[in-house]
Amino acid sequence: MPAEHLVDAPSGPPGTQLIGYDARGHCPMLRDGRCSIYAHRPQTCRTYDCRVYAAAGIGPGPDKPAIAARVRAWEFTYASAAARLEHEAVKRAAQFMRNDATSFPPGSVPVRPSEVAVAAVKVYAAFLGTEVPEDAAGKGRLATHVVALLRDFATADAGGRAE
Ligand code: SF4
Repeated sequence: MPAEHLVDAPSGPPGTQLIGYDARGHCPMLRDGRCSIYAHRPQTCRTYDCRVYAAAGIGPGPDKPAIAARVRAWEFTYASAAARLEHEAVKRAAQFMRNDATSFPPGSVPVRPSEVAVAAVKVYAAFLGTEVPEDAAGKGRLATHVVALLRDFATADAGGRAE
């Protein structure tokens, strides 16, 4: 990745950098509709999987119609009833973060669709076999739990990368 396309990340461990974007809002490595460094693309590009949107039951956003069409085409099958319940919990987690963002402390809930979808996969256990509370206090407690789970993931991830 050419250094001129890297920017310092606003969060994460010191030294973390991100790929910037061009005037169109696209990755600067995208040329003529294709990745110009495909064989050497970053790990995050290698692990990107649009099924995460389908898993979370949300779309990638109105600015990504091609990805949205692909996401709509995915259908899930389940190896067991438990797997189906887990998937429903992932979708409940995503809906909670999107519909009840005000239950979270400011700045603690993901906003971008990709971040919501990934976060939902991380915290789905908090939504297994239980409905989202209807009262504000219950939603606040659930939001606090979700934030703690996300923090645990971030800590474990940073630890893993430091090893
Ligand atoms: S695969 Fe990664 S590096 Fe290549 S164009 Fe897409 S976002 Fe950029």
